[in-house]
Amino acid sequence: TQFSDFGLAEPIAKALAAEGYHTPTPIQAQAIPSVMTGRDLCGIAQTGTGKTAAFALPTLHRLSLQPKSPTRGSVRCLVLAPTRELASQIADSFRAYGRFMRLSVNVVFGGVPINKQIRDAGHGVDIMVATPGRLIDLIDRGAVDLRKVEVLVLDEADQMLDLGFIHALKRIVQILPKARQTLFFSATMPRTIEDLASRFLTDPVKVSV
Ligand code: AMP
Repeated sequence: TQFSDFGLAEPIAKALAAEGYHTPTPIQAQAIPSVMTGRDLCGIAQTGTGKTAAFALPTLHRLSLQPKSPTRGSVRCLVLAPTRELASQIADSFRAYGRFMRLSVNVVFGGVPINKQIRDAGHGVDIMVATPGRLIDLIDRGAVDLRKVEVLVLDEADQMLDLGFIHALKRIVQILPKARQTLFFSATMPRTIEDLASRFLTDPVKVSV
């Protein structure tokens, strides 16, 4: 399998060539075709497997098919991650793979002043990458409107639970439309994570690498 077999939008193919990527990793080969059909995904994968591109590429493809102008506080794709480091890396990946597209990427995490994040979020954004605690703060301040989210990604779900984000996650997901695509990743799948996944996902494709 090559990336060119997937039929990803031309600007994405161009960005992949610029990154020097030709062959998908196993999780990318398993996940990308199903995610492109709109299916939910439950992936068991560690860092280093290429899981970021496995969700970022088909998501960029989906958003590019129907460009929409941002409205106040709007978010089209919401990515939740446990730490500021991971959130920043994910945002960088979206920016790299989306560099030839006109999609905006925003990252929010705690431990830094919230005012600039409130202002940035207010303009509306195509892709928001967030840690759950800071996103709750933004929601409570009325800075983000999650009612039109089309794609939800949960990355390193097991880490998010270990860090005590379970209530934040449930509160955030409650706000989102039921008709959305959800991509769920975890390095491990104990019972608690499986329960969470079954709550958030609808008939998911399961991949494990
Ligand atoms: P991740 O598991 O998402 O953190 O990705 C691990 C690393 O592999 C990152 O540095 C990516 O830039 C790189 N990578 C991801 N997919 C590919 C690919 N198909 N070909 C080459 N490098 C890749």
